[in-house]
Amino acid sequence: MNSDIEKVLYSQDQLNQRMDEMATELNQKYQGQEPIVVPVLNGAMIFASDMIKRLTFNLTIDPIKASSYAGAHSTGQVKIVQDLKSDVKNRPVIFMEDIIDTGRTLKALTEEMKLRGAKSVEVVAMLDKPAIRVVDFHADYYGFQVPDAFLVGYGLDYNGLYRNLPYIGVLKHEIYA
Ligand code: 5GP
Repeated sequence: MNSDIEKVLYSQDQLNQRMDEMATELNQKYQGQEPIVVPVLNGAMIFASDMIKRLTFNLTIDPIKASSYAGAHSTGQVKIVQDLKSDVKNRPVIFMEDIIDTGRTLKALTEEMKLRGAKSVEVVAMLDKPAIRVVDFHADYYGFQVPDAFLVGYGLDYNGLYRNLPYIGVLKHEIYA
């Protein structure tokens, strides 16, 4: 285990098992629909690539990148900094996200895709951190519900590091204190 990690919360085996289960549900639902699968960069890239390999229906992969800006009054605004290449009109859209925290990013992105005329919009999240939610938002599918701790690994970073860890871990407090 990486020496900066306090403990492993979910191992690669546990993640694999949940991804298999989620993929079974998605494969039943989306057969014949040709959705656009949208990994939310950068955090979702590892999870999305592992999930997408499990999907058996025809799909288009089209990533998006968004940044959150907490405004002066902490209302929080989400800006798309790298947009989709595809036209989502009348296509189902499936977002793939690493973790849902405040919920702002995915609430804004799902609303934007509905405005663009997507046929349907669903969100698949590796992790859900409900304690921190500040807007009303729920992922349609999520791997695990996690406590309010700062997590890294499997795409989640701290200052650009730890995305490559093949498990989800809690970072030692002294690393970010
Ligand atoms: P929100 O739901 O707050 O709009 O955005 C979620 C984003 O916050 C995630 O994509 C991720 O980048 C970041 N985030 C939230 N919780 C954690 C965490 O525990 N660890 C890391 N590394 N990033 C987090």
